[in-house]
Amino acid sequence: MPDRSGTHPLLDGRAGPGGEPLRLRLRRAAARLVRTRTQVVRFSEPLVSFTFDDVLESACTVGAPILEEAGVRGTFYCAGNLGKGWAGPPLASPERTLALHRRGHEVACHTYSHRAVWSLSPEALAQDIARNRAHFTGLAPDMALANFAYPFNTTSLRAKRQLERTFATCRGGVPGVNVGRIDLGYLRAVELADDFTDRAAIRAWIALAVRERGWLIFFSHGVAQVPEPWGCHPDLLRFAVAEARGQGARVVPVGEAVLRAAGSVSAEPQRESVP
Ligand SMILES: [Zn+2]
Repeated sequence: MPDRSGTHPLLDGRAGPGGEPLRLRLRRAAARLVRTRTQVVRFSEPLVSFTFDDVLESACTVGAPILEEAGVRGTFYCAGNLGKGWAGPPLASPERTLALHRRGHEVACHTYSHRAVWSLSPEALAQDIARNRAHFTGLAPDMALANFAYPFNTTSLRAKRQLERTFATCRGGVPGVNVGRIDLGYLRAVELADDFTDRAAIRAWIALAVRERGWLIFFSHGVAQVPEPWGCHPDLLRFAVAEARGQGARVVPVGEAVLRAAGSVSAEPQRESVP
């Protein structure tokens, strides 16, 4: 069993088990629970988004074509400087990322340095985000990086507030369907990884999204015949895409779901609330 202890630089969503200091756990919990950018959304049809973090080359060469074969597109949360010191599976080259963009996929932001956002000062976080934007707009000026995913799926309230002023949405890794009053600063998402998600669970999550006419976001990393512990087999991705479409959901990138949410949103003032 691969190490899932949270020490791996790409183990999004599983940082800090066991010996994590209490103050960090409280910080993470507060960011999850205190909803700072809520909107009530009512979609005209259920939505499913497929997202990939970091981004690994296999997400581009294997994952993206699976989406394209089904006539849909995904969202790829990229970190421009992730390769520094990285000894894992190959990361996407700039050319691969540009090709994704040109094929209609959404390139989104995952910080430049892939450091936990709560560990950076406001100034350092702003610089990091600006650097990532510059990195990708240098590839294509219209690569807007409108949406964000937290590295390691972890944040603090302070960083969350800062980032949600910059991006249309920020995505975490707490499983759930985004429906009703949703927090655009901490979108819920379900992990699509063979070690953690089986077909029955995928089917059930999609059924829930369809039943509630909500927005289900899957997140994964690499897509390979022998998937990394945080990645998925091509067959699992293919199954999830087919299941989403078969159950009547529309598969869209995050950015398109945001537009659909904006078009159907109830006019309620934003306020903080704890569920
Ligand atoms: Zn990541």
